[in-house]
Amino acid sequence: MSQENGYHEIPMWAHVAEQDWEDWHWQLRNRITGVDQLKSWFPLTPSEEEAARRTQGRLVMAIPPYWASLMDPHDPQCPIRRQCIPTMEEFDVREHDRLDPCGEDGDMPVPGLVHRYPDRVLFLVTEQCAMYCRHCTRRRLVGTTSRGLMTSANYEATFAYLRAHPEVRDVLISGGDPLMLTESRLEKILAGLRAIPSIEFIRIGSRTPVTMPQRVTPEFCELLKRYKPIWMSVHFCHPKEVTPRLAQAMDMLADSGVPLGSQTVLLRGINDDPAVMKRLMQELLKVRVRPYYIYQCDPAQGISHFRTSVDAGVKILEALRGHTTGYAVPTFVVDGPGGGGKIPIAPNYVVQYEDGVMTLRNYAGETYEYHEPEEVQAPSAPAPIRPLDGLLQPPRVRRRRAS
Ligand code: SF4
Repeated sequence: MSQENGYHEIPMWAHVAEQDWEDWHWQLRNRITGVDQLKSWFPLTPSEEEAARRTQGRLVMAIPPYWASLMDPHDPQCPIRRQCIPTMEEFDVREHDRLDPCGEDGDMPVPGLVHRYPDRVLFLVTEQCAMYCRHCTRRRLVGTTSRGLMTSANYEATFAYLRAHPEVRDVLISGGDPLMLTESRLEKILAGLRAIPSIEFIRIGSRTPVTMPQRVTPEFCELLKRYKPIWMSVHFCHPKEVTPRLAQAMDMLADSGVPLGSQTVLLRGINDDPAVMKRLMQELLKVRVRPYYIYQCDPAQGISHFRTSVDAGVKILEALRGHTTGYAVPTFVVDGPGGGGKIPIAPNYVVQYEDGVMTLRNYAGETYEYHEPEEVQAPSAPAPIRPLDGLLQPPRVRRRRAS
């Protein structure tokens, strides 16, 4: 488990009382938003300095002191630092980049409510976050109030839509970050959803427990208990994020009966090394978080410098499956650009299929033949499945076993 730096060692917070540091309102009020605050602590690279000045009005820089305390001030490549301090690469917009890469705006029957899949919806309740991640896929809307997502009228319109659509049984509350709302505002949302008989359960997607774990208060946990069942998907990107303070927040949530899953964006130079990703997944299990999704980084405008090949994600899954606990293996997905939804991608373990005999390879590259009973074989055997070049290339086959 990683350790945060003692915040007393950081000049600008050397005299802050523990009680203040542990208060999430204090953390929010004291976020680093200016270049000069950072420069009083450590030298910025020219790219960081210019970008941090220019991002005012875009996806602004806002770094909670807790998150800042995890940064390595001497290393511009520190994975914590790269996720929160902009660089000039964000101004490089490529030909296939999109403002709304997942096509959410086109699937909104009510502002902020995305209804794409048959039985579930995504409910964006705020544009605010504790920290603005430099790889954010919703950078078109977070950090502003331009969409008016936080209005009561918007929430009421959503409840009315859901009452009229009883096929929706699952609501994912996201944003921005729902944990930016006060308990009373969150309670209005949870109570409004719970009053709709067809809503079977609620999920909350959040990054805040990781960037500012002080937000997970006893009051917040009590609220979640009152409106159970509530599941949470928490956004983690690097093992350095799993600190003792984070573990305390996860314990509070898990002890409140909230099942916890993770969402991780695959980021070049941050977590695209299979060893780093494996360590993250293993650390998550230790703090009672079940790895859920690894996302291929979306083609949002200005984040190409974070994007990897899709093959990098396949290789990570290859390095996880069989090599560590099955619970530590999430699903790797690419969001179909423009609104295709999550498309799972995995290594190919089927080497060949012919006449009811499937040749499979295991994690170690050994092959095995599985014979299907005659009565369930396809009437005409499907064409042999062969690994595609590159993306699905299996590892070296070590030996073949006779059936
Ligand atoms: S917390 Fe989520 S919505 Fe907010 S900036 Fe980070 S990735 Fe984007």
